[in-house]
Amino acid sequence: MIKANNPNLVSWVTVPEHSDFPIQNLPLGVFKTDQLEARVGMRIGDSILDLKTLHILGYLENLPYNVSAFDSTSLNLLMKKGKLSARRLRDRVSDLLNLVNTELQNNQHHVEQVLISVSSAEVLMPIEIGDYTDFYSSKEHATNVGTMFRDPNNALLPNWLWIPVGYHGRSSSVIPSGQAIHRPKGQTKPNDDQAPIFGPSKMIDFELEMAFVTFDGKALGDTISTAEAEDYIFGLVLFNDWSARDIQKWEYVPLGPFLAKNFASSISSWIVSLDALQPYSVDTPSQDPEVLDYLRFEGQNSYDINLQVAITPDSSEETIVCNSNFKYMYWNMAQQLAHHTINGCNIRGGDLLGSGTISGPTPDSYGSMLELAWKGTKPVPMSDGTERKFIQDGDTVTMRGYCKNDKVRIGFGEVASKLLPSK
Ligand code: MN
Repeated sequence: MIKANNPNLVSWVTVPEHSDFPIQNLPLGVFKTDQLEARVGMRIGDSILDLKTLHILGYLENLPYNVSAFDSTSLNLLMKKGKLSARRLRDRVSDLLNLVNTELQNNQHHVEQVLISVSSAEVLMPIEIGDYTDFYSSKEHATNVGTMFRDPNNALLPNWLWIPVGYHGRSSSVIPSGQAIHRPKGQTKPNDDQAPIFGPSKMIDFELEMAFVTFDGKALGDTISTAEAEDYIFGLVLFNDWSARDIQKWEYVPLGPFLAKNFASSISSWIVSLDALQPYSVDTPSQDPEVLDYLRFEGQNSYDINLQVAITPDSSEETIVCNSNFKYMYWNMAQQLAHHTINGCNIRGGDLLGSGTISGPTPDSYGSMLELAWKGTKPVPMSDGTERKFIQDGDTVTMRGYCKNDKVRIGFGEVASKLLPSK
């Protein structure tokens, strides 16, 4: 077992009940305050542990990181050192925060310097994303979309059960939780027998996804097997892959998503390590037909992560519109990474690989408004009496995720972003 995952650990740092961030989580992020410039921190309860100051004070010696890895506006330098180094860092911090360890706990002067209330900090974009890839790995989602737009009897395209289908997205517009976005404008074709028009999209949607961030991979030309894949995964975030359905419908043939997808994608602030998720690993859904050899895998490579989406209209209460789970994904992350590199494509530290919309088997577990409101035919009621077919100006979309077994709950916090009118 990974030392820091011990469910019996208790921290001397106060952790509120039902917090996503007990000592068994310790996700990494980047933050700043009025007094401190941007740096790397670890989240525990409602506090952030300042790893830069902790390093300067000598608590992170014998680890393979210079202070520059923590004195940084991103986590990318940490990713350069690989999985075992990241595990040692998390184990060391876990030791320092352990109730039975007085090393830091009893040095009040140091505690005051390294523990910062999250309410007094600004949490920043945690990674400099190199490349962003988005998959399409939920069978339920692909089936729903195929049913709506093509043929209910042949909802999945012929390649879907053989290939973890994906496309290359755009990293420049991946933004942190809390950053509002403007409704994009573009070309749409509302009437089949008329010319296309230009204007603000009328069908802004969220996509409930998770994304994983990679360590440095192998050289161009080499491949990462499913057995090796998890050694190259740094951690996971919640991911709202904003989409403009009307723009998408008109532009996507024949090369796939473009301007309908690249105007914004929002990620949660704290990167939860794959190590921390190990206690929640589960079997991947059975795959039929049997996959080609390079996509075969052993062990439990899927993760039981409860996911939720809420819509909060301007000056109103939130309505939960979706409850799904990461474990529904047909293709697991190891298969996605193996497929991505099977042609020799090189993955680099700080790449972001999205799961694709995560829909479950029931209508309340669909991961997009397109599916929840079934192409606008079943508007979704809000608690303020209004209803939604898609996202309206002023709405905030919030996604949350957590894992829970009989001993410990860990979570991702949230990714929340507000949709503003077109510029
Ligand atoms: Mn997507």
